[in-house]
Amino acid sequence: MEELETDVLVLGSGGAGLMAALYALDVNPKLRVTLATKGLFGKSGCTRMVQGGYNVVLSPNDSIERHFEDTMIGGHWLNNHILARTLVEDAPVVVHEMWEKAGVRFMRDKDGNLRQKGLAGQTFDRTVHHGDLTGIEIVSRLSEQVRARGTRVLEECRAVDLLVEDGEVFGAVLLPARTGEFVVARASITVLATGGSAPIFSISSASLEKCGDGYALAYRAGATLLDMEMSQFHPTGLIAPGSRLNGSVIAEELRAAGGYLYNAERERFMGKYNPRFEKATRDEVSRGCYFEIAAGRGTPNGGVWLDVSHLGPKAVEELFPGMLERCLLIGRDLRKEPIEVCPTSHFEMGGVRINRDCHSDLPGLLVAGEDSGGVHGANRLGGNGVADSTVYGRRAGLCAAHTAGRRRIKKIDPARAVADALAPWERTGGEQPQALHAEFRNLMWEKVGVVREAAAMTQAINALRALQERVGKVSVGGSRAYNLTWQSALDVRNAVTVGQMVARCALTREESRGAHYRSDFPSEVDSWTRNLTVHQHAGEMRLGEQEVVREPATAAG
Ligand SMILES: Cc1cc2nc3c(=O)[nH]c(=O)nc-3n(C[C@H](O)[C@H](O)[C@H](O)COP(=O)(O)OP(=O)(O)OC[C@H]3O[C@@H](n4cnc5c(N)ncnc54)[C@H](O)[C@@H]3O)c2cc1C
Repeated sequence: MEELETDVLVLGSGGAGLMAALYALDVNPKLRVTLATKGLFGKSGCTRMVQGGYNVVLSPNDSIERHFEDTMIGGHWLNNHILARTLVEDAPVVVHEMWEKAGVRFMRDKDGNLRQKGLAGQTFDRTVHHGDLTGIEIVSRLSEQVRARGTRVLEECRAVDLLVEDGEVFGAVLLPARTGEFVVARASITVLATGGSAPIFSISSASLEKCGDGYALAYRAGATLLDMEMSQFHPTGLIAPGSRLNGSVIAEELRAAGGYLYNAERERFMGKYNPRFEKATRDEVSRGCYFEIAAGRGTPNGGVWLDVSHLGPKAVEELFPGMLERCLLIGRDLRKEPIEVCPTSHFEMGGVRINRDCHSDLPGLLVAGEDSGGVHGANRLGGNGVADSTVYGRRAGLCAAHTAGRRRIKKIDPARAVADALAPWERTGGEQPQALHAEFRNLMWEKVGVVREAAAMTQAINALRALQERVGKVSVGGSRAYNLTWQSALDVRNAVTVGQMVARCALTREESRGAHYRSDFPSEVDSWTRNLTVHQHAGEMRLGEQEVVREPATAAG
């Protein structure tokens, strides 16, 4: 088995992974930094998909305190206060440094100041952007720098398991899809930045290779995760049956600019749910759409209609060129007709418990970006996601650079992780993992989705247990190189573990808060202002609780 040794091993090449690699090398250019990513380098993950932009306090009329409060109100005060404050305090520094170090450009006004616009949930227009290609700009510029600084990059190379002994992490077992031959990557510090698990639901806007690998790896290694019930749905995912565009986001701007949502009876229904109609928050509009569909007033493909044609063809062309193009790809013309949309799984607020320097509970394991939990509480504001991945990716890189030299690499036996990953090859006649994965995603969508209640979730938890057993029996054959069936078997193993965390935490939280809505407990309850935790103990999934982390009181109280 091939072995490599590195000071810092970064897993994932979205905003968090790229910033971690960049800053580790910036502090100490002599460090050996290796970045392994499941997708293509510079082309994978959700940071690249960022269109709306990046929240940052720049104007003297805005303030850090205001951004902090917006973030906490958005998160229904479930956020780790220290992580949320660090996010908003670091964001201006990071935006400045991304320009200085990597040349990341955001749009400017005629006076040369960064142009800022508003997104939902903000009391000040503080979102910087690069047209609607913000993510492409960020990832492209950061990728160039990471390559230029001599990082060893392994692409289409997934982490299968962390190398852990006595609760300490020293690297990971990697599997390059192109060869199918394992690589043991031994590292002083490992940075987990694999980007969450939004596609565990059958309709999702996120990059499809993300199936909760990071959460499952951290969980198996013994880390604690929190807020896993907090799954965010974007209200307007495009319905495009049979197309990869199914579930892709139709931007919030369409509703902000005056777009209407109709049910199949041509009723503009949002007024029944919220006086702000289509301009209500993401979770409220998602639920409005869901209730209409569930009541049998959905469109032929199970959605609702989103219509901007009344704005006129010229306005549609000028305001939403990207969205117009996206819809034309599936044969719908936004200038003259409505499109079918439905809620789509967009982001997971939960994740691995960290402190402000990205330390998880496991020495040697840093976690950043969507893989971490606590920054966003019960709901993430648009524009705070990419701020999170770059702010905490940078912190992980700085911390890795300062600690890597102080940890001697312990050589941990990879046999167990390799044997587990190879298990499907030992069997014959098992089920197809792709079919199991699809069944799993449908189950999550139907029973643990936008609107939740105890009976359906209990059914889901039982079904997930049965699915886990079936996943343990799948078989794989053929060549190991580019074996998509094998990759899928590894995906579904992790996804089902994450699904169980989400479903069990969602059943336990008997209230509605932020993105988590229980039809049997429709109100927010003060005494539930605490985090649910989940970890593995003696092979069992254990749930617990913790107090929300607050900032230390000042001398003045
Ligand atoms: C359509 C869409 C639009 C969005 N728009 C905005 C916006 O306008 N503003 C905003 O703030 N946020 C937005 N977000 C959220 C934002 O994209 C995320 O919060 C953020 O980019 C996540 O960054 P990350 O680095 O944690 O993960 P990602 O950028 O998703 O990167 C994850 C990386 O990990 C890799 N990976 C996965 N599994 C493994 C494994 N097992 N081993 C190794 N590598 C692995 C992937 O290939 C990928 O390279 C949007 C999200 C979506 C889906």
